[in-house]
Amino acid sequence: ELNAELISVGTELLLGQIVNTNAQWLSEELANMGINVFYHGVVGDNENRLYQTFKQAHERSDLVIVTGGLGPTDDDVTREVASTILNAPIYEDEEALKEIQDYYDANNQIMTPNNRKQARLLDGAELLYNSVGMAPGFVLHKENTTWMFLPGVPREMKAIMEEHGFPFIQEKLVPEHTIVSHTLKFIGIGESQLEHDLHDLIQNQSNPTIAPLAGDGENALRLTAKASSNEEAKAIIQDTEDEILSRVGEYCYGRDHDTIQDKVFQLLKENNEVVASAESLTGGKFVDNLISLKGASSICNGAIVCYSPVVKQQVLEVPSLVLDEHGSVSEACALTLAVNVTNKLQSTIGISFTGVAGPEPLEGHEAGTVYIGVYKDQQQPFCKKYHFNGDREMIRQRSVKKGFELLYH
Ligand code: ATP
Ligand code: MG
Repeated sequence: ELNAELISVGTELLLGQIVNTNAQWLSEELANMGINVFYHGVVGDNENRLYQTFKQAHERSDLVIVTGGLGPTDDDVTREVASTILNAPIYEDEEALKEIQDYYDANNQIMTPNNRKQARLLDGAELLYNSVGMAPGFVLHKENTTWMFLPGVPREMKAIMEEHGFPFIQEKLVPEHTIVSHTLKFIGIGESQLEHDLHDLIQNQSNPTIAPLAGDGENALRLTAKASSNEEAKAIIQDTEDEILSRVGEYCYGRDHDTIQDKVFQLLKENNEVVASAESLTGGKFVDNLISLKGASSICNGAIVCYSPVVKQQVLEVPSLVLDEHGSVSEACALTLAVNVTNKLQSTIGISFTGVAGPEPLEGHEAGTVYIGVYKDQQQPFCKKYHFNGDREMIRQRSVKKGFELLYH
């Protein structure tokens, strides 16, 4: 089995000025390919320490992916150190130089002499073309270890890997098996319930493997199958998927890159529904989520942010009796908000959010107490009460997520 190691080069990473998203992304993608990543390393632009790190990686790993430190400036020393360790002289590659020259031509800029530096490859390396930026990556096989060198800029690193890096790994390093990986996404079912309902499947997993992923108020399962062909791997996954869906299918809203927002959007569109929201503690976050989707104008009329009781009363016409008797954190208030925002904004669905974002309690309710009201197609409105954990921001985000969940069901 291939074991991989990631090395991220850059002093900014060590200073905490940037987050190592490159390692996170690469790890996730490699895991999806069924490749084990056993080490992550972060090193500054320092020759000695890079040397130590590279040496160790060369001894213990089959695949090493290095990002960063390939730039044109003198502090970028990745290439020099790799040359020493891999015993591969640096030379200026004509093809790479042409790629850089083309980039400058396409952008109507003049190439400076030190940009030529980025055309330098290690002897024996193969180019990995960069379709979105200037500097290419390269790959080199030495003494049982394959080394990939990539620019640090995440957008360029990703494009190179997707177009050339991962296909290279699949074809050259793990040709004997195909990996197919699928993620099933769930909402409205807790992590422990999901694991309980699938306990035996998760316990006895081998091929496909079943990895529960949790976060953000939703849950997912990643199924990964290995087989000698794509079709075979897909069939293996399908069997397990069918079994999972027969048990918890009602909570599964999509696959892979689907989001609950997209699904709600599609549903609204199919049913010719138009949504309006009345948002107290969420402050417009719900409508912001909707409007960030392309084509939102056909499914959303707008929102009223009704943070203070004055707005609830004067703009959304919640009777003072309701506010006096039940308070603004109440089912009665949420229901009225949902109905009134629907009518005022001439929509077919209204959703309201009122509650305590915290950290202090309000009207005798603990932080995290949230009422969400829904009024749909002039039917009886309904309201759900929740208690969310977390800080102010998390409580507001969970509320929004729940709102989408309510509209999905
Ligand atoms: P360049 O040719 O742009 O100089 P490079 O290969 O030398 O590329 P770096 O200088 O190390 O790469 O990084 C370029 C930029 O990419 C950094 O300023 C940083 O914003 C981003 N970056 C680098 N490494 C990472 C990482 N591991 N995770 C996220 N972002 C990163
Ligand atoms: Mg640089």
